[in-house]
Amino acid sequence: MPTTMTPRSSLILCALSLAGLGNAFAAPTVTRLTPPSELFTSNRPDPVIARFLPGQRFDLQATLRPDAGKRFTEARFFIDGKPVAAPVALRDCASGCLKGVPEESAIATVRAVSVETAGRHQFSVVATQDDAQTVTARGDFMVVPFSAAMGPKVKNIIILLGDGMGAAQRTAARIVKGGYAQGKVIEPLAMDTFPATALVKTASLNSVVTDSAPGMTSYVSGNKNNNNEEGVFPDDTTDAFDNPRIEYLSEYLHRTQGKALGIVTTADVFDATPAGNAVHTSNRGAGTGIVDQFFDDRERTGLTVLMGGGRKWFLPASTPGSERAESNDYAFSATEAHTAEIVKRWGAAPGAKDKDRDLIRAFESAGYRYAATKTDLDASAGADRLLGLFAYSNMNVALDKIDGRRGAKRGLTGSVVDDYGLPDQPLLEEMTTRALDVLKKQKKGFVLMVEGASIDKQAHNMDTERWMLDTIEFDRAIKVAQDFARDNGYTLVIVTADHECSGAALIGGSMVTDATLRNLALAKGAANLRDKVVGVYEKAGFPHYRLAADGYPEATDIDYRLLVGYGANADRYEDWRTNATPLRDSQQPFVKKEPLKWYPANPAERADAIGEFLVTGQVPGESAVHTATDIPLSAFGPGALAFTGVIDNTDVFFKLAQAAVKGTTAPADANGSTKPRKR
Ligand SMILES: [Zn+2]
Repeated sequence: MPTTMTPRSSLILCALSLAGLGNAFAAPTVTRLTPPSELFTSNRPDPVIARFLPGQRFDLQATLRPDAGKRFTEARFFIDGKPVAAPVALRDCASGCLKGVPEESAIATVRAVSVETAGRHQFSVVATQDDAQTVTARGDFMVVPFSAAMGPKVKNIIILLGDGMGAAQRTAARIVKGGYAQGKVIEPLAMDTFPATALVKTASLNSVVTDSAPGMTSYVSGNKNNNNEEGVFPDDTTDAFDNPRIEYLSEYLHRTQGKALGIVTTADVFDATPAGNAVHTSNRGAGTGIVDQFFDDRERTGLTVLMGGGRKWFLPASTPGSERAESNDYAFSATEAHTAEIVKRWGAAPGAKDKDRDLIRAFESAGYRYAATKTDLDASAGADRLLGLFAYSNMNVALDKIDGRRGAKRGLTGSVVDDYGLPDQPLLEEMTTRALDVLKKQKKGFVLMVEGASIDKQAHNMDTERWMLDTIEFDRAIKVAQDFARDNGYTLVIVTADHECSGAALIGGSMVTDATLRNLALAKGAANLRDKVVGVYEKAGFPHYRLAADGYPEATDIDYRLLVGYGANADRYEDWRTNATPLRDSQQPFVKKEPLKWYPANPAERADAIGEFLVTGQVPGESAVHTATDIPLSAFGPGALAFTGVIDNTDVFFKLAQAAVKGTTAPADANGSTKPRKR
């Protein structure tokens, strides 16, 4: 006898049948319904979880659990009671393609649906078992309307994302770069001159503490993802590339307006933040598939500029330094509707397991200029499309790039960038300048994401001076973007972070000179390195760093320096002095060879250990971790004044889209940058 049940009633009947009332009351169940909703999860209508723009595409999916020995023969989806007019792929997955659910479960999916009408919508799935029993479940989502425009439509969007950049990281960069006189900043950071600021809530779908994957995608998809997931909702399959998708800002604005996409990072380009603008995967570590998808789907995302590190993913597997592997590549089956519909409905490339692919050559053949060094980048003026891969994995940090440049000027070698074999890497500000040169030729405008990646990576390592200088490097890139917006007009610029990292706190200033600090390290212990050094309150004074002509501090080991503590730290030794080298970066392909193999593997192996001042941590492992603390966001240009208050990270997406699609919701902005500046 066919029955229709909610998940809750199904559970009750299951319990009754277990109590011995007979199998006649057993019932199939829906164990997951996507997009995620509280209506499905707890039967509460609020809050609405998934939100979309009018017309923004997303997938519907249900995980169905049949009765023992039964299977599903059909599944249908409805939105507001009307059947969804798209094919449903019903995947029977008895062959080990599921994780965390019974292997007799089935996955029903509809790809690339969209709703134009604003407001709350209910959706449901109805699935039929081979004994004609049916099961149904319902969820809801919101389509967020555009507001009436009060100001101009924005042509370009620049998202500057300081990975791991909380208020402490911003403040530290301001103190080091700007200096203070009698309690006031002498030279503000570029980001401190933006007229609007909001506080952003950063939780992901499955944790108060996000990682960079959902941290980025919340801004450019409007939705929460699980940690490690990019542009997709969670599912129950093992395939990292088949998850229910959400259309990105880049895809939406390319499809509807022809805008181009630029991605610039100091990380490996496969990393979560860059990938979280254009690639759909539940595994942020699937490097080969991620970089392939950047290229394969370039006509859907408008990818025009891609710059950072990560050459190891672009080299054929036989080339030294390559880490291309079929185990982390993607390929959609043409016969399995579950994935074939991604190709058909989304227009995505089918992919291929092709570890021997020469992806740099593929980019070049498609009209991208390739730059492997700063010299190449300087020579790329006039390029219409640009691929820059300046390192095998993550690029070196600003402190080491600057040290290498200054040494080279004096004829010295042996710096960290020489150890990496990459002495000619650009700074983020130089990459940003060139990215804007290329993108400003795009008549329909662009979305550019620029990431200061190692603010986070060096905060994980509790390497204070390295993240401080990377925050300064990031601010110099912000200045480039701000100047572009001022000069070209119709450009909305936001500076934000995906999350805070390390619980950094500016605890005071050193009470001693650097020479004394070295002696106190030799004298060892907390009684020397803490009690005789750490000046709190008025004893902190105002640390005074001097900037060199290149814009970075002449020296970081100054007398009476700024001191930073960590609230989300692992055990570490502290001597308050700049570490001679960064920690060993396990993502570098040549990390096990000379000379990188001599770099310290963790904070406990650093020279700081000589001082025997052990700072015990509260978190397990060797690294500091991300925190759940809100982060500041600053905005400049038309639409900037929409970014105020305490907002959710997903709100940012709708504000950006509003400005690009309908126009800004504020009549004019404090900096008057709605129009090009007259020169
Ligand atoms: Zn991180």
